[in-house]
Amino acid sequence: MNLYKDAANLLKEAKNILVFTGAGISAESGIPTFRGKDGLWNKYNPQELATLEAFLKNPKLVWEWYDFRRKLIKEAKPNLAHLTLAKWEKILPITIITQNVDELHQRAGSKNVIELHGNIWTLKCLSCSYQEKNYEVPLKKIPPICPKCHDLLRPGVVWFGEALPEDALKKAFALAQNADVCLVIGTSGVVFPAAQIPYIVKETGGKVIEINLEPTPISEIADISFFEKASEALRKIDKYL
Ligand code: NAD
Ligand code: ZN
Repeated sequence: MNLYKDAANLLKEAKNILVFTGAGISAESGIPTFRGKDGLWNKYNPQELATLEAFLKNPKLVWEWYDFRRKLIKEAKPNLAHLTLAKWEKILPITIITQNVDELHQRAGSKNVIELHGNIWTLKCLSCSYQEKNYEVPLKKIPPICPKCHDLLRPGVVWFGEALPEDALKKAFALAQNADVCLVIGTSGVVFPAAQIPYIVKETGGKVIEINLEPTPISEIADISFFEKASEALRKIDKYL
């Protein structure tokens, strides 16, 4: 029995593959995850940093934290896991749905990427429809100001208590209903509605393959689980493609 080969065969036979990624896929690039041993939420209180209330109360503090994360992300490089997925996109019918805001999938070369939780390089106005892509690190002015209406610009990410971008979520759910295989990589699977995706795939008859360092709620519905680093599991599956 060779589970890597089995996973490769499922991927080769699939007409639609959905890859669902979380912070764990970027951990090997040196970007801390949220939960877990070295998770950011062990050191910081999300209610003080990742909510609209927190931002309105102290935009400077919240922006300093995002500025720090933008620096980490800018210095980071896509790792073998991101690169392997980008390579697979050339030979397999893959769409990546990511909860990450770091853009590392795109930097690795993936084109078919849906960002469910926004993008840390997007700045958007609290009041008007202005938004921009801004890769400046550190930001020249904290907090940054809208050039159109002079209200505050905020990070273009989804905070606790906020709705996910409607378009992205609709697309993601539609893809999930049609996917033959869902490859779930490096997500704790506890942040909804994003975490529904593998369940939808399973309910509509698709297979679920999970890669994580440890079991998660998604493990219970997974057809194949690999409990190891994302780069390791993908490298081993890649040999059979
Ligand atoms: P997470 O930190 O909850 O989970 C990361 C998972 O990756 C863990 O299960 C861990 O075991 C696994 N992992 C760690 N290293 C790995 C490796 N090398 N290979 C494979 N797996 C590895 O991250 P998540 O699941 O992405 O969290 C869901 C979402 O919560 C995040 O995407 C984020 O958008 C959201 N969130 C965002 C904010 C914010 O600041 N805007 C705040 C809180 C939560
Ligand atoms: Zn504005």
